[in-house]
Amino acid sequence: MHYHESMIELVGNTPLLKLNAVAADIRATVLAKVEYFNPGGSVKDRIALRMIEAAEESGELRPGGVIVEPTSGNTGVGLAIVAQQKGYHCVFVCPDKVSTDKINVLRAYGADVVVCPTAVDPEHPDSYYNVSDRLVRETPNAWKPDQYSNPDNPRSHYESTGPELWQQTDGRITHFVTGIGTGGTISGTGRYLKEASDGRVRVVGADPEGSVYSGGSGRPYLVEGVGEDFWPDAYDREVADEIVPVSDRDSFQMTRRLAKEEGLLVGGSCGMAVAAALRVAEPLGPDDVVVVLLPDSGRGYLSKIFNDDWMNDYGFLEEGEPTVVRVGDV
Ligand code: PMP
Repeated sequence: MHYHESMIELVGNTPLLKLNAVAADIRATVLAKVEYFNPGGSVKDRIALRMIEAAEESGELRPGGVIVEPTSGNTGVGLAIVAQQKGYHCVFVCPDKVSTDKINVLRAYGADVVVCPTAVDPEHPDSYYNVSDRLVRETPNAWKPDQYSNPDNPRSHYESTGPELWQQTDGRITHFVTGIGTGGTISGTGRYLKEASDGRVRVVGADPEGSVYSGGSGRPYLVEGVGEDFWPDAYDREVADEIVPVSDRDSFQMTRRLAKEEGLLVGGSCGMAVAAALRVAEPLGPDDVVVVLLPDSGRGYLSKIFNDDWMNDYGFLEEGEPTVVRVGDV
C-alpha cells in the first residue's frame, strides 16, 4: 500500500511544468513551479511547516501552545493545517477589508479569527498591529511566527524549494524568477541556487510597479501577496541580480491567459511573475532554462481577476473582449 500518514507529508515536492502557449515566441525553455499542489494550496505551506518545527525544537512553541499571527491569506492556511495536525490552536488577526470567504477558510480549519477595523491609525489600540501584539502578550503559551522577520521563512526555501529546482532541472536552470512579498522565497531559493551553481544562476525578482523593491514608495497596486511599503528582515537584499516591475494590467492579463491557454488557474502574483519571466527569457537562447515560481491557485480570486465586471471597472480588459452573455439581455 502506498499512502501518506498526514497532510504534513504532502508539503513540497511540487511539479515543474513547461509553459507552451504563453512562451510560444521564446527560444529558451520556460518552466513553472506550480505551488498550488501543496496541501493548503500555496507555497506558504513550506514556511508554515519549517517555522513551526523550528519553534518546537527551540522550545518557543510548547504542547498546547497557541499560534498568533496577523495574516488573512496563504500563510494562515498553511499554519492552520500544520497546527491542527500537531495539536496547536491558531488565532489569526486580519483587517476588516478581508473577504468573508478568506475568513471562512481559516475558520474551516479550526482557527479563530479576530477582525480589526481598517479605519483607525496604526497607533490605535484596536489596530491590526496592536491587537496582534496584545494577543501575544495576553494569551498563555502564545507564539508569533512573524513571517516577515523569521529566518526559518527563507530557510524553508533554502532547504526545500531550492534543492527541488536544482534536482528537477538536473542542474540546468539558468534563471530563477519569483515575486517578492516577505522576500522569503527569493532569498532562500535564490541563495541555494547561487551556491549550487557557483553563482551561475541569475536570480530575478518580480515586483508590482510602485512597491519598494523596484524603487517605489509603496504606492497602492492591486496584485495581492507581493510588493511592500517597507523592507522586511526576511528579504536578503544581496540575492536578486535584477528586479522587474510589472503593472497590474500586465499581471492580471497574463493570469487570465495562464488559465485560458495553459490550463493553470493561478493567482495574480503568478501572472505577474510569468510576465516578468517572459521579459527575462525574451533575448535568451535554446540552452537557457528559466524557472518561474507560481505561489498559489486562482480559486481565491474568482470575484476579482476572473470576474469580467471587476476587470472592466479597472479598464484591464481589452476592448471587445467577450464577457458573460446573460440570456434575456440580448
Ligand atoms: N504571492 C502570493 C499570493 C503570496 O501570498 C506571497 C507571500 N506573501 C508571495 C507571492 C511572495 O512570497 P514571499 O513572501 O516568499 O516573498
